Amino acid sequence: MVRYVYDFRDGSRDLAGLLGGKGANLAEMTRLGLPVPPGFIVTTQACRAFLASGEEPEGMSAEVSRHLSVLETATGRRLGQADAPLLVSVRSGARFSMPGMMETVLDIGLNDASVLGLAKVSGNERFAWDSYRRLVQMYGSTVMGVDPALFDEAMALLKEAREAPDDVHLNAGDLAWLAEMYKGVIRDETGHDFPQSPAGQLQQAILAVFRSWNAERARLYRRREHIPDDLGTAVTVQRMVFGNLGPDSGSGVAFTRDPATGRPGLYGDYLPNAQGEDVVSGVRDAVPLAELERLDPRAYRQLRDHAQALERHYRDLCDIEFTIERGTLWMLQTRVGKRTAEAAFAIAAELVEEGLITADEALARVSGEGLARLMFPRFDTDGTGDALAHGVPASPGAAVGAAVFDSAEAVRRSAAGEQVVLVREETTPDDLPGMVAAQAVLTGRGGKTSHAAVVARGMGKVCVCGAQDITVNGAARHFTARNGTVVEEGTVISVDGSTGAVYAGAVPLIASATMRYLETGEHRDSAVAAVARALDHADSVRRLEVRANADTPEDAARARRFGAQGIGLCRTEHMFLGERRKLVEEMILARTAAGRERALAALLPLQRRDFAAILEAMDGLPVTIRLLDPPLHEFLPDRTALAVRIAAAEAAGGQPDVHDVELLDAVNRMHEDNPMLGLRGVRLGLVVPGLVAMQVRAVAEAVVERTRAGGSPRAEIMVPLVGAVEELRLTREQVARVLAEVGEETGVPVQCPVGTMIELPRAALTAGRIAEEAEFFSFGTNDLTQTTWGFSRDDVEAAFFSAYLDKGVFAASPFETLDREGVGRLVRIAVEEGRAVRPDLQTGVCGEHGGDPESIRFFHSAGLDYVSCSPFRVPVARLEAGRAAL
Ligand code: ADP
Ligand code: MG
Ligand code: MG
Repeated sequence: MVRYVYDFRDGSRDLAGLLGGKGANLAEMTRLGLPVPPGFIVTTQACRAFLASGEEPEGMSAEVSRHLSVLETATGRRLGQADAPLLVSVRSGARFSMPGMMETVLDIGLNDASVLGLAKVSGNERFAWDSYRRLVQMYGSTVMGVDPALFDEAMALLKEAREAPDDVHLNAGDLAWLAEMYKGVIRDETGHDFPQSPAGQLQQAILAVFRSWNAERARLYRRREHIPDDLGTAVTVQRMVFGNLGPDSGSGVAFTRDPATGRPGLYGDYLPNAQGEDVVSGVRDAVPLAELERLDPRAYRQLRDHAQALERHYRDLCDIEFTIERGTLWMLQTRVGKRTAEAAFAIAAELVEEGLITADEALARVSGEGLARLMFPRFDTDGTGDALAHGVPASPGAAVGAAVFDSAEAVRRSAAGEQVVLVREETTPDDLPGMVAAQAVLTGRGGKTSHAAVVARGMGKVCVCGAQDITVNGAARHFTARNGTVVEEGTVISVDGSTGAVYAGAVPLIASATMRYLETGEHRDSAVAAVARALDHADSVRRLEVRANADTPEDAARARRFGAQGIGLCRTEHMFLGERRKLVEEMILARTAAGRERALAALLPLQRRDFAAILEAMDGLPVTIRLLDPPLHEFLPDRTALAVRIAAAEAAGGQPDVHDVELLDAVNRMHEDNPMLGLRGVRLGLVVPGLVAMQVRAVAEAVVERTRAGGSPRAEIMVPLVGAVEELRLTREQVARVLAEVGEETGVPVQCPVGTMIELPRAALTAGRIAEEAEFFSFGTNDLTQTTWGFSRDDVEAAFFSAYLDKGVFAASPFETLDREGVGRLVRIAVEEGRAVRPDLQTGVCGEHGGDPESIRFFHSAGLDYVSCSPFRVPVARLEAGRAAL
């Protein structure tokens, strides 16, 4: 018989899959002996069964009743009992934390009778009505589907009538009236009364939490965080404790360390006389925990001790939700907390120092994405500059964008290519699409634990919250700064998530401390030292080498400073652009062999110079030079533009330019419907005489030049787009001939390994043959993805990728994260069959996937020798290659 309900005392954190993170951690805290109000958990399995069939699974409700009875016996009260009611919360909680994306209903068990009983037993009438109106509101919106704005309107009306700045200034009578108003709203909107049966409330609330798994915002959040859609949520039912019983009660959120910087010490917000959701939603401004220490030193000390116990037990930063009921502290939630990238590195290093975790564990807890974030530039200000406003620095980084005042506008403008900053009084889970679209989030209310802050940190998005010196007027689409400046929608502002400053206009950027360390190898502050330690450890454990894709000496030098162990892809087409385009044009248009040779001869010294400079920058390390790849017409002018120019000349009665006519003729001759699958790569070298010879000669002469200068040049020649071993064999003959010629002419023998890119399925499938001629394989995973799927990136990404992501055809774009199942299989086949023929075959990747963490893990497991990526991704790839080897 399947078990659908677990008492807190029967669970543990190992059961997070079944009990959800929240339930499992409540069980864990119960086992640790921390003060947790008792309760039980309905499993994710019950949720999955309910969502699949639309009905409660057989036996679930009996189990819920049985556990409720146990709770009633333990507390000596019955759910909703008229004279002294037991109240419970019904809380969502999935395997992976989805902050605020699903529903929670508090104060279940109150009705027109038990609210009076609660007032009597608590001796606090205001509290009882406050709890009741909260239940009606939460139940109405969550379970009965009433628009929450309607309740907010009633509340606003009441506050205005009572001239109350916030809800604490409302008395028992006001709140009783409000509860009636809310019930009226429910009746008007749904045609049903607010249900009076406590057992019915409990049952319906559980099902509503199940359903909230599939709420729009929850789905969006999961897609963005790559959380599977089929896990379901658990439901925790827990005895209520009350933070709204008066000034000696309250509710708060704490972190065992500062989640923004990682600095040790309890950190958080507290709201006296409030129920939990008030803290996060920012209905009133919370105070720092230092204030709690003043208000209630005993409860504060307990909280601090529990926080330390949790951090030692979980061996990581934890966040905590707690409530104080008349001086008694209750722990309501904990989990390993989200943190900024800076804090992740700092905490990992610190915990190693403290002996709580190993260097391997520390490496596992940081990420390449986090490192990339620390490499982003920051604003070039001395911090004192004339900021428009200051708020809480909730998620670091520098962002510039046009101010927008709602989620839809953020989405609309960003889809049109504009960078935006979402400015809100406070965010709600419905703002998620706008937060995803924006460069930064700026709010007028709320602290580091507000919704905006928590979600932004999770996404690595810049966030400044609680900027009290701005007044946000969302309806009028502007905000006003204290100095009187009015910032209208569309105005560019700069938001510094590291300092909390907000500036008018676009503030210029400079390198971050981490970037300066990567550039110079020197660091002073401890935050950067933590990054250095993680990178050093990654280097000591990784098996994959990391090379860079670089086409210029500057990029090569930078990549080397960043730790690149060579160049895995040096593209030569960029060397054909600019003023050299004329020479390339001549080569393409030449009618005679002599004309073509003249053009090639003019290009030769230019290419040689490029190669010599790059080989110098990478002296002693391999430099893989790819022969010309793109179709030649890319070097000629645009067909339409030419045709228009000629037509215009004719229309004006004149003679079109002869050169234009000649060019158009060539362009027409070379026009391709599918250039991606046309005359390019190795095919070019086999049909355009002299091209390969010129390029190889340039490489060989550069090698000679560097050797004579005392260097150790290690050029490798890479042939693109090979599909058949014959193509490679023919090309290789040309290469060998030129290398030998240059060796003879100069007296310096030139050794260059020759290899190929694997970027066609046929190449992968005949890798055993191709390896007969190739000394190395470099997987061009961009083209291999295109040719395996049969779509061209430029045409498909905008056309239907978002639909494919929505429909779940892809979990991620195959151009960002390697498609293991298809493209990955070709990679494995090619590695295996290539090595069978040539055991010392070198294998690497030079597509953009070489810098993608998820893909790097795959390349490690497929046994490749190296990944190659853009210079700025090199440190990221080092770190991730280390993590892959753990
Ligand atoms: P979320 O996942 O959105 O954080 P929770 O289930 O944690 O939702 O509930 C939100 C808040 O409601 C909690 O932080 C807590 O303060 C309050 N809460 C939940 N259960 C109880 C309870 N049994 N007693 C008192 N407050 C509760
Ligand atoms: Mg919570
Ligand atoms: Mg390619």
